[in-house]
Amino acid sequence: MTLRECIAEAEKRGIAIGHFNISDSEGFKAVVEGARELGVPVIIGVSEGEREFIGLQEIVSLVNVARGNGLSVYINADHTYSVEKARKAIDAGVDSVIIDEADKTFEDNISITKDIVQYSGGRVLVEGELGFIGKSSKVLDRVPDGVTQTTPKDAKRFVEETGIDLLAPAVGNVHGIVTTGEPKLNIELIRAIRDAVKIPLVLHGASGNSDEEIIAAIDAGIRIVHINTELRLAYKEGLKEAVQSGEIAPYKFMEAAVENMKEVVKKKLKLFNKI
Ligand SMILES: [Zn+2]
Repeated sequence: MTLRECIAEAEKRGIAIGHFNISDSEGFKAVVEGARELGVPVIIGVSEGEREFIGLQEIVSLVNVARGNGLSVYINADHTYSVEKARKAIDAGVDSVIIDEADKTFEDNISITKDIVQYSGGRVLVEGELGFIGKSSKVLDRVPDGVTQTTPKDAKRFVEETGIDLLAPAVGNVHGIVTTGEPKLNIELIRAIRDAVKIPLVLHGASGNSDEEIIAAIDAGIRIVHINTELRLAYKEGLKEAVQSGEIAPYKFMEAAVENMKEVVKKKLKLFNKI
């Protein structure tokens, strides 16, 4: 099953596919094992920095091995700001790429995104970004400056003119976890954008949002949900504990980090897949 077919299936069933960012083989192991144990599809996300660390060709190969073992694992080149890197990811054999020009003018965002859609020529799904939701997947003490919300009218024009397959709108979501209070998701806006654009929507920065909000967002038209910060925290906590125990075998102390991440992955996948 291709990623496009997998998203169509999620649409039919009114569920969402989990997207988890990783930057090494431990993260990969946690996400793939979590999905396998639940028997659901999953998307591995690698941003520009994350894929520089693990290696683009390396992570594409790992995903292909997992897929050869009968798992529905896909790979997304997450937030790609440079056209050159987006093209490189498409050529490397990812399943989808996000061209993120949301900080450019509306016109420039349309023209650069359209170029990538044309370059892909249907080989991989292209996701575009409209509206600003912050850039870093960290623990933040306040909502980042300049956060906006996407209007259905702009979304419609953006989708029609670019020809993208997936849209990531700004609907009250922010990258990272805001400790002083995560902003609420605008469920009505998600529904209005979905009605206007008629393509699947992707929710970024879902770490920190409540289960109820995420389910309401899925019911309003979200088909892929991104989790990064919560996984990063689980990794660090698991690893810290195991290293402090004095263990020196990497496959033993890393195992604790993997288990900690896997717990987050499974909890989220159960929610998104309504199981
Ligand atoms: Zn994102």
